[in-house]
Parts: sequence; structure tokens; C-alpha cells
Amino acid sequence: MALLQISEPGESPEPHTRRLAVGIDLGTTNSLVATIRNAVPECLPDEAGRTMLPSAVRYAEQGIVDVGHLALAHRGDDALNTITSVKRFMGRSIADVREETKARYQFTTPSGDGKGQLKITTRRGAISPIEVSAEILKTLKARAEESLGGELYGAVITVPAYFDDAQRQATKDAAQLAGLHVLRLLNEPTAAAVAYGLDQKAEGTYLIYDLGGGTFDVSILRLTRGVFEVLATAGDTHLGGDDFDEALAKHAFETWQLARALSPAGQANLLAASRAAKEALSDNETATIKVNWGCGFDSSVDVSRERFYELTRPLVDRTISAVKKTLRDAKLKVGDIDGVVLVGGATRTPQVRAALEAHFGKPALATMNPDEVVALGAAIQADQLAGNAKQGEQHLLLDVIPLSLGIETMGNLVEKIVSRNSTIPIAKAQEFTTFKDGQTAMAVHVVQGERELVSDCRSLARFELRGIPPMVAGAARIRVTFQVDADGLLSVSATEVTSGARAEVAVKPSYGLADGEIATMLQVAYTHASADMQARALAEARVDASALVQALGIALDEDRALLSESEAVALTSQVAFLKQLAEGTDHRAIARATEDLNRASTDFAGRRMDKAVNKALAGKNIASIA
Ligand code: ADP
Ligand code: MG
Repeated sequence: MALLQISEPGESPEPHTRRLAVGIDLGTTNSLVATIRNAVPECLPDEAGRTMLPSAVRYAEQGIVDVGHLALAHRGDDALNTITSVKRFMGRSIADVREETKARYQFTTPSGDGKGQLKITTRRGAISPIEVSAEILKTLKARAEESLGGELYGAVITVPAYFDDAQRQATKDAAQLAGLHVLRLLNEPTAAAVAYGLDQKAEGTYLIYDLGGGTFDVSILRLTRGVFEVLATAGDTHLGGDDFDEALAKHAFETWQLARALSPAGQANLLAASRAAKEALSDNETATIKVNWGCGFDSSVDVSRERFYELTRPLVDRTISAVKKTLRDAKLKVGDIDGVVLVGGATRTPQVRAALEAHFGKPALATMNPDEVVALGAAIQADQLAGNAKQGEQHLLLDVIPLSLGIETMGNLVEKIVSRNSTIPIAKAQEFTTFKDGQTAMAVHVVQGERELVSDCRSLARFELRGIPPMVAGAARIRVTFQVDADGLLSVSATEVTSGARAEVAVKPSYGLADGEIATMLQVAYTHASADMQARALAEARVDASALVQALGIALDEDRALLSESEAVALTSQVAFLKQLAEGTDHRAIARATEDLNRASTDFAGRRMDKAVNKALAGKNIASIA
């Protein structure tokens, strides 16, 4: 069945020219670039025939920047200037970095308050993770242009499904810095599903199991007519192939009973040897960890698959627990999953596949290279977006946003404007009004999250709409429009409809959600749903009460003369009672008292109205009124 067909505005293809478009998997450990050649997606190799570029950048002496294998070779002897796993720092502040990681580099923040995009101090000065990623992207761009023989038209770059606005924006900034035209950011699990051609099937629910070098992500995707909905994501941002290497290294170190602790270079050697042995164990029953310490001294130990499995079983079990949790979050059973897709180099390990097969009762989809599958899917999308696909074969994917977006309203409440899992791109507007008479400005506070109270959501941006013509409370019509583009990036505008006063922001938060925070926020929203309803009811009751207290306060000041002494005393004490009640937490009592006071003051309001009418009529003749 055909997918939703959407033509991208301004991207209509020239009929005969083929545009050079690539897909890029900008990974934590390894990055790849792929393109469509002769109708088949393929990863482009470097001059040594390797498709994977280690995501490592070294700021060497004399302004030289090494990227990939060259940089990685210096991880032991020039650690502070050799940046690896930079993806973890994209769109992050120092406050988001784990304690263990803080020791690896010297971090700084431009603003000095620990907020905002962090930077890493190297011999070349403070470098932003965006610049580091840009070096990786530049290298891949050069590789692609060399092998395709022309300038690139654009690229699709993949990001984890849980990446928030700040992390996506940082990725786009890096691409721009590298001189790449970003056709779209695409979620990694979505790209993997596309590579497997799952988008060609009409419907289905797939689990994408992505075990990379340092991160583990599991996502459940539902595909319905070209819409990829992320039903749940979970995982562990600090679990991956590196942990398997460390388990082997520890085993070797203990076996050898070396007399002293290893130097950083020795440690790096041991880890590299362990990794080589681990990878060899994917194809062989035994492997040898062999380290040459220099000066003619070396150590080695043989490891069997069984031994390796024993050493790493807890790691595999942790991934299976995360799989179970994702299923629970999505309210699905094992049998609801139509297929399991393997992504990430570490899924080549046979015991990982065996554990998944045992859990799902059927083998995972493994016909594609798990290292390459994300880049290949991105290349297919890039080709489509560049307009290269043949008529009738064009289809685009729709992604969804992971968390709701809204604005703060009176009483610290969140009014959701774009709800979670809406397909993007999307534009949605909602009208708001002023709270006070004569209010000429309105503060718009944009927040992200599932909870009802602003304090439980993430603040994304604040801006002000000014120049609202003075009107009575509730008369102004302020239209707030949220626009989320195909990359999941948000811009917000506010317009006062009658006057046309307008203000807008492209939401570019200085720092984003911490690792896993989206998943946690979703989880918390579910468990707090009923408490949130209470909080919302209370906040609403308080807003109503305070509006009435305020209005009656003014009325009593102005027109006390319209009331008898006992009426005035009765109303004043009722106002005081409501005011006091509103400080408590019983939303029902507050609502009831508000209603009572409303009723009790109706007559007073009527008298004020008469007085106002009489005043307006005073001195005017009949003709001028008519
Ligand atoms: P990322 O998505 O984090 O960039 P990758 O998907 O490239 O990472 O996965 C890198 C990990 O895959 C490394 O830990 C590497 O050792 C592991 N890996 C690569 N090939 C194999 C193999 N044949 N057997 C087991 N693990 C492998
Ligand atoms: Mg990856």
C-alpha cells in the first residue's frame, strides 16, 4: 500500500538532473555516510575501504585536526585533546554531564553559570561539541563528494528518537558549520525501519533494538500508512559495546595478575585488544586477548564464547529488562511485535541475538549490516527528499513529536497546544485572552512536557507580546501559533487579532533535556495523572477566586455608596473568607465559595450597571441616544 504522499514545498525536482544526496549516521562511537547508487543504498568507504569513521576528533599541534582512526590512536597519549563520544554533549550544559565524565575533559560554559551549551577546553581553546561534530561531518562530506564526483545537494542526518529540541538544533548547527544542507533530521529507529523496507508495508509494530558502542536504545515504532509513531523509547545511555570490552579487559587483567596498575596508554592498549577479541568471538568459538606492553614484554589469554557469555550476561540481561519495560510502557505484549530490528555493531554478538530470540520466540531481522542500517535508511530518505525517486515511488515519512508543547496560563498551569505524538510538520493555533482590564502586554512562556503544572515541565522559551490595545479583561484575542517543522524544531508566534500586534520566537533553548529525561518525564506524567488533575482543579479554582476577589475589591472601593452598611459588611467579609480559602488546597471549597460570592454580588453588580448607564445618559437628549 502506498504511503502518504507529500510534496515538499520548494523542493520540486528538476526532471532530469539527479541531485547528490546522502544519509549520515552521526553516531556516538562511529559515523557513516551512505547514498543511493544504481537504485541500491550503499555506505561509502574511505580510501582504505572502511565505511565506519570513528566519531573521534583530535586537536593536534600546529592547528592540525585529526578525525576518525587517526584521532582514536591518540586517545591514550593525548586524552584531553582527543574528543570521543561528543554526541553525549550536544545541546547539553555542564549540569547535564555525569560526574564520571566530568573528569575526562576540562569543561567550560560561555556564560559561566553552568547553563547553556558546554564547551571543552583543548590546546586549541574552548571548543563546542557542535564544532567537534562539524569536523566529523566535514570528513564524511568530503568523502562523499570525492566518491560521487560532485557537490552534495543535501543530507539527511539521523538523531536518537529521544533527542530534544536543543540536541536536534545542535545537530543542525553542526551540519551548517560543515557546509551541509540538511534535508531533514530523521529518528534513528525510523531510519532503520526504512532500510528494512518496513515503510512499504501498510501497518505493523516493530521493536528496534540498537546496541551501539556506548549507548543502548530500544524503541517501539508503529507504522500506519507512512506515519512512524514512536510508541515508547527506553534504554540506557551508558550501556554498550564498550562495557563488553571492559568486562573482557577486567578478566584479562585479573588472569595476568600484573604487579601494578596500568598507565593510561596501557589501559587503552588493553581495551583495544579486548575489543578485537570480542569482535572475533562473534565469528569464532575462541579468541585471544593479546597485549604488547613494549620492551619485548607481552601478555595473552584465550577466551571462549562460553566464558565471554558468562562475563557479559548481566549486560545482556539489562538490555532485555529495558525491552520488557518498553513493551510495558507501550502496553504491548511480546506477541504484538511484528518484528525485531537489530541496529548497532554490538548486536553482532551471538548471545545478544540468542537472548532476543528467546524473548520473542522468533529470530530478529538481521539480513542487513547492523552498523550500516541507520545510514542506509537515511540515504533512502535523502534520495526521496532530493526528488530523485521515480514518480509513483515517492513517499515521505512523517515523524511525531515525543513530548507535548504548550504555554503557561494563569495559575502556573500548562495549556497544551501541540500534543505528544502529533505528526510533524504541524502548525496549531489557540486563542487566549487578557486577565486584567487594560492589560497591554502578555508574557508567553513556552513549555514542554506531559504534566499539568508549569513547574513539572521543561521551560523552553519566554517572550512578550506588547502593544495590545487596552481593553477590559477577556476582550483581547491573542492567537498563539505553534509550528513544529519536519525536524522537530519549534517556533512560536503570538498575535493580538484585533490590533495585529505580533511577536514571535524561534525556540532555541540554551540547554535541553538531560539523558533519558524525556522517558522519565513521560513515566512520571502517567503515574501523576490523577494528582495532576487535582492540582489543575485547584489552580483553576484559585484563578477564578482571585479574579472575583480583585474585581469586587475595585467595585467596593468605587461604589460602596450603592450598598447599605450591612450589605457592605457582608460582602467584604465574604471576600475576605474566599481570599483566605484560596490559600488552602481544597479546590471544591474554593469553587463553591466563589460561586456563592458571585451570587451574593449579582445585585451589587446590577446597581453598578444602572449607575453607569445613568451616568452615560446624563445630559444627553433622546435623539442622541437613539
Ligand atoms: P554507535 O551507534 O554508538 O556509534 P556502533 O553501532 O558503531 O556505535 O557500534 C559500535 C560497537 O559495536 C563497538 O562496541 C564495537 O566493538 C561493536 N562491534 C562492532 N563489530 C562487532 C562484532 N563483530 N562483534 C561484536 N561487537 C562488534
Ligand atoms: Mg548508532
